[in-house]
Amino acid sequence: KLSNIDAPSAGSPITVTDEGMLVVPDDPVIPFIEGDGIGPDITRAMKLVVESAVNKAYDGKRQLFFWEVYAGEKCNKMFGNWLIDDTLKAIKYFKVAIKGPLTTPVGEGIRSINVRLRQALELYACIRPVRYFDGVPSPLKEPWKVNMVVFRENMEDVYAGIEWPNGSVDCAKVRNFLTNEMGITLREDVGLGLKPISVFGSKRIMRKALKYAIEQGRSSITIVHKGNIMKYTEGLFRACCYEVAREEFSGLTVIEEEAQQKATSSLPRSKVLVKDRIADAMFQQILLRPEDYDVIVTPNLNGDYLSDAIAATVGGLGIAPGANVGDEVAVFEATHGTAPKYAGMDKVNPTSLILSSVMMLEHIGWKEAAALIIKGIERAIQSRIVTYDLARQMENATEVSCSKYAETICKNM
Ligand code: NAD
Repeated sequence: KLSNIDAPSAGSPITVTDEGMLVVPDDPVIPFIEGDGIGPDITRAMKLVVESAVNKAYDGKRQLFFWEVYAGEKCNKMFGNWLIDDTLKAIKYFKVAIKGPLTTPVGEGIRSINVRLRQALELYACIRPVRYFDGVPSPLKEPWKVNMVVFRENMEDVYAGIEWPNGSVDCAKVRNFLTNEMGITLREDVGLGLKPISVFGSKRIMRKALKYAIEQGRSSITIVHKGNIMKYTEGLFRACCYEVAREEFSGLTVIEEEAQQKATSSLPRSKVLVKDRIADAMFQQILLRPEDYDVIVTPNLNGDYLSDAIAATVGGLGIAPGANVGDEVAVFEATHGTAPKYAGMDKVNPTSLILSSVMMLEHIGWKEAAALIIKGIERAIQSRIVTYDLARQMENATEVSCSKYAETICKNM
């Protein structure tokens, strides 16, 4: 039951079985949020490409029904609210959605709509694949070695939003508690925040990442943490990840340390190698030895920094896709924000959202349509017909608008 918006006029819902398997009809309804800033431009481009790929792959036997739901500035204008319940209800019901970027409203007491969406829908895994497309400008000597998928924990860590501003009554209360009960001395002018990391949260993200690594035949999974300094939060994360690998996936994984102790030179190819790296060292590793890293699992803050850094090595934010996934619901979105200075100019690179739609098509098992889009993107980039962000770094490139670029992808599928 929706109170502000009309139900979709055509299409059927995706459902989930008791075992957590998706059941996808041939006419699924896909709720979408257009997004703020550059959102409308890249959403239009994404829809054009997806509809064209689905049409080409299935010749009318399968069809997606995009259905608009609201969040962000547009929602606030229409309903006087940045996020309406109908949107949450719709995404919960239809299970798979795609969204453009949303402005974080500036002001006391208003929290990021993205964070609210993730929390309300329990989207605990932020998944960001990063791969190289032939011809994309890169600062690396051998960018084709980059092929990683980051699994970032999405609900805990310093992003949980448990903070008290300096000078506030609550901050003084927490500070007094720490001083009086715990013997911790802090300056009077501190602001304070909490970094919650739980066994439950750490294990479930590792489970999801390992399952993905095994299903996709990936070679390794690296736990990235600062457990050497933050022993009881990031250290706990590391310990929980290893525990899941050992106890729940024992026949399918090999722990790097144990393999080294046995001096095994060749690892069983069918097993996923599980290793860990300290976050700061990892930022060097992705530049110097990208070929050694495959699936990455990490707490929220590390994951935020790391996924942008990896994306920058192979073309940057304009081509970096992502998904926020829970046990039942998945919301696909670009990694970047609303880039307000380019809003409404039909200028930016929509590849980020188009690749997010590829992840979405793979998620629902429509692999043929996903493959067509990848082919279209590869050919567009190889023929150097690209948007401004790539054109300015490539020789002999033809710079085209966001919409023209989407049409180029369609022609090349
Ligand atoms: P941003 O990612 O919006 O933009 C930073 C710069 O990256 C842009 O100026 C542009 O040069 C480049 N860029 C981004 N997307 C591009 C694309 N598709 N093609 C080409 N170039 C691109 O970051 P920001 O300026 O820090 O944030 C703006 C707003 O977006 C803020 O309100 C922020 O809260 C919000 N935001 C939303 C999300 C989300 O919805 N998931 C994510 C990040 C930021």
